[in-house]
Amino acid sequence: MRHTKGHTRNRRSHHALTAPRISSCPDCGASHLRHRVCETCGKYRGKQVIDVVAKIEKKNTRLKDKARKMGIDPGEAKEKEEKKATPKKKTTLKK
Ligand SMILES: [Zn+2]
Repeated sequence: MRHTKGHTRNRRSHHALTAPRISSCPDCGASHLRHRVCETCGKYRGKQVIDVVAKIEKKNTRLKDKARKMGIDPGEAKEKEEKKATPKKKTTLKK
């Protein structure tokens, strides 16, 4: 059945995207999605949820292994990635 421009446009009038709800972390000040853990410090509502330092170290070792397999000097690759991966504030996991 033919659908008119009007019917198509009426249907699509509900398809608008909304801006993501972003709030700033009370611990480190970085912006993050509301009701989600802060990816910079790994905290949610003041509680340490993700061990960010351990995660970065794991990533660095993975990259080092990859660089070694490809025959590149691992020190070179690590220096590049450390600049990117280092968080603004380093926190330690408290229990
Ligand atoms: Zn944070």
